[in-house]
Amino acid sequence: MGKAVAVDREACIACGLCVSVAPEVFRLENGASIAYNPDGAPIETIKQCIDGCPVTAIYWKD
Ligand code: SF4
Repeated sequence: MGKAVAVDREACIACGLCVSVAPEVFRLENGASIAYNPDGAPIETIKQCIDGCPVTAIYWKD
């Protein structure tokens, strides 16, 4: 397995973009997004979330 996507929940403003683009990876929980299923979508889809997040809260962790 390679990189796993994660969310900086402190930075997340809960705009909902990542949840709309990849609901099989992200969901809102207690006011912030969480990557509950990091392998739930193709890399390209997750990249869209990373690029689209207004506060750059989504990142790859090793
Ligand atoms: S796109 Fe960014 S700010 Fe919006 S819900 Fe997802 S992690 Fe949070």
